[in-house]
Amino acid sequence: MRTHARAVVIGGGVVGVSTLYHLARKGWSDSVLVERRELTSGSTWHAAGLLPLFNLSYSVGQIHKYSVALYGTLEQESGLDVGLRKVSNIRLARTRDRMDEYHYYAGVAATIGVTVKFLTPQEVKEIWPLCNVDGIIGAIQHPEDGYIQPADLTQALARAARERGAEINRHTTVIAIERRPSGEWKVATDKGDIVCEHVVSATGNFARATGRMVGINVPVIPVQHQYIVTEAHPEIVARKAKGLPEMGVLRESDSSWYMREEAGGLLLGPYEKGAPACYVDGPSADSEYELFPEDLDRLAPHIETAIARVPAFGEAGVKKVYNGAIAYTPDGSPIVGPAPGLKNFWLNEGHSFGVTAAGGAGWQLAEWIVDGEPTIDMLGVDPRRFGAYAETGYLIEKNEEAYARVFTVHYPDEERVAARPLRQTPCYGRMKALGAVFGSIYGWERPNWFAPLDYALSEADLAKPDVLLNENHPAVGPGERPREKWSFRRSNYFDFVGAECRNVHDNVGLQDMSAFAKLEVSGPGAEGWLNSILTNRIPKAVGRVTLTYLLTSRGGVRAEFTLTRIAPERFYLVSAGALEAHDFDTMEKLLPADMSVRIDKVTTQRGVLVLAGPRSREVLSKVADIDVSNQAFPWLTARRLSIRSAGLIAMRVNFVGELGYELHHPIEMQNTIFDALMAAGAVFGIKPFGIRAMDSLRLEKSYKLVGRELSIEYAALESGLERFVDFDKGPFLGRDALVTWCGKGFENKIVTLEVQGVSDADARGSEPVTKDGVMVGRTTSGGYGWRTGKSLALAMVKPELSNIGSEVDVRILGETRRAVVVPDSPYDPKNAALRQ
Ligand SMILES: Cc1cc2nc3c(=O)[nH]c(=O)nc-3n(C[C@H](O)[C@H](O)[C@H](O)COP(=O)(O)OP(=O)(O)OC[C@H]3O[C@@H](n4cnc5c(N)ncnc54)[C@H](O)[C@@H]3O)c2cc1C
Repeated sequence: MRTHARAVVIGGGVVGVSTLYHLARKGWSDSVLVERRELTSGSTWHAAGLLPLFNLSYSVGQIHKYSVALYGTLEQESGLDVGLRKVSNIRLARTRDRMDEYHYYAGVAATIGVTVKFLTPQEVKEIWPLCNVDGIIGAIQHPEDGYIQPADLTQALARAARERGAEINRHTTVIAIERRPSGEWKVATDKGDIVCEHVVSATGNFARATGRMVGINVPVIPVQHQYIVTEAHPEIVARKAKGLPEMGVLRESDSSWYMREEAGGLLLGPYEKGAPACYVDGPSADSEYELFPEDLDRLAPHIETAIARVPAFGEAGVKKVYNGAIAYTPDGSPIVGPAPGLKNFWLNEGHSFGVTAAGGAGWQLAEWIVDGEPTIDMLGVDPRRFGAYAETGYLIEKNEEAYARVFTVHYPDEERVAARPLRQTPCYGRMKALGAVFGSIYGWERPNWFAPLDYALSEADLAKPDVLLNENHPAVGPGERPREKWSFRRSNYFDFVGAECRNVHDNVGLQDMSAFAKLEVSGPGAEGWLNSILTNRIPKAVGRVTLTYLLTSRGGVRAEFTLTRIAPERFYLVSAGALEAHDFDTMEKLLPADMSVRIDKVTTQRGVLVLAGPRSREVLSKVADIDVSNQAFPWLTARRLSIRSAGLIAMRVNFVGELGYELHHPIEMQNTIFDALMAAGAVFGIKPFGIRAMDSLRLEKSYKLVGRELSIEYAALESGLERFVDFDKGPFLGRDALVTWCGKGFENKIVTLEVQGVSDADARGSEPVTKDGVMVGRTTSGGYGWRTGKSLALAMVKPELSNIGSEVDVRILGETRRAVVVPDSPYDPKNAALRQ
């Protein structure tokens, strides 16, 4: 065994071996993999081998697409048959909501370059004659999709990695991992130590145990998953004898199961409610090729629907039931990227579709490790999308929920209910009493919108066809009735959100944005360091506020901050709540070694109330102890003030495009401030507003969000950040790359679109944008603007189509809508409301 390596990959399942292969392919042939038993002896050996391309996440979708393409080439490279069968995959639909989901997905797939075909029930019957198509209203098919033999795939990747010089050590267990003063890692195994620059943890069900070796909490706990294999069925055997093609993978999404042919019989895999979390403290030390006892009772409702759909399934005897551990995370997506707080320690964990994801996840992780950046936006799988709140109890509840919801319709406005309410701000109860319907972000409860106090959906509103698992409304407490219905279209809360927007525009609104991530950066080196990493010039005067960006070394956008100088050597940085761990970790890893700068995370110490609307100054002036006139407290400045006895920092900025203030206060004083504002605001018509109103209002201002319009895949100037990038202030991270990018020209340009002819379905983001039927871009956000009365979208398009007045088409839920490029900020383009 090598004693020194560039990288050590821990874990010889399909994910670890793919990572090793990709590292070797990028030239890091002096990399080593260690596996405690045999390759594939964790979860990989018993996987059903399906390769579902279907995924609504842009990151995961691209990862899956790459995998399927790679697996098709591996036999040639390694000389080993991987058992790839591109038999295609059909997903059935019984409801209009499901068809909406498929249409939305088909748009995402088109922007990624994945082929999706729509089928009629009759076409399904032709491909899958054993399927009863009663009640089916349509289906989609992925012609490129199919299944593979997971163990053979792993062996092929292993051979290809070895041939490129990488080393694989089986029967070698990592027992400790230590950081040496030099910054290198020492990976201690039962066969000796390996010193290396980088460590990759790809340990499947052992992820938390591996994390504990380096003091991190990896948010992965597996859930049990079963599939049933039947004896051969005469009809399938007869089909084979006639040389007919395999019928492919069939998914009855609305009954939550998959089925495919297996050795003349059928294989059924349900995703049921009530599947328990397992290996909470990790598998036992001698765990190998481990299965749990079968529990068919849990699957009974799914077996029934499977027999109704494919009667042959009920006619063949059960040959074997596999019940194995499948790694899960709270949102069901894997964890691929840097470990928070540790340099050169990487995670490739939490894979619930690991056979499908292994190729793409290994590829992007290798790009990240070797080149310092991935090439696709990985925010959807970034390990830092979870925070310290994601502890054991939370993981059990959320991961079981994620498993049970694999097949439910993934509405864009879905809000899952497990492990809630978790993080509550002090005004939670007050907001609830005002009718708040909450969403959850990064564990925080945050009002999405406000329902009238006596409002609830009727039975007729909730009526839905016979669907086993799909609920298009959230579960509620005992005695309560649901107040919102999820949809891909404008739903029941649409008009209520409109009323909130109008009140912010006409009067004044109050919003709880305490979930914002908040950092303080201080010290003698703080200004110089911030200037060296952020795009905008750091303000000289205390009390000045600026918007600034952290770029990647390639000039893409990694993070956005509202930065305020609060003292000569102290800066206050506010960013998106969901990105707290991501932004903090990225900044911390960039800190200079000379100890001249420190970062403090103050998220949970400070609450934020947003007061916005034309009457907001009048409200504030009634309660503040300072002059808040435009002269004394202009736009883009911050002031310390007191409201009653509570001291706070008020910033004249907001994300809705009206006169307004963000009030950053000690969190324990929130209700004092809240009550004072509500009392003072009563005569001015103050009302609370939620995230959905904010999203509509920000769209009308063409304000951008990280993960949507801003991404590592787009140059900051493609995303329209010219005003916030100061090329003259001296070097900063990403500047040189941007200059080079300017020289070679841009491939995209962000635009604001007015979408015409919309009646009930606005763009949501990720819809394809076409010109004369040819793809020219994708939307990044969309919705209805209540102040402008327009359906709007933000989109990345080819620069030649970015001129005002250019006409393109946006495909929304299968319908083509004409869209026109309009000037940015359709509402108040001169920012008069903000400056007044
Ligand atoms: C019943 C079932 C059916 C499934 N069907 C599918 C499917 O159809 N399609 C699909 O894409 N996915 C499927 N999956 C999921 C799939 O099996 C997993 O996502 C995938 O195998 C994960 O691979 P991995 O490499 O991350 O983990 P594993 O295969 O579990 O590999 C992790 C390895 O790390 C090793 N290890 C751990 N700790 C150490 C240590 N300290 N030192 C050295 N080695 C260590 C372990 O021994 C293990 O071999 C299924 C899962 C189940 C349970």
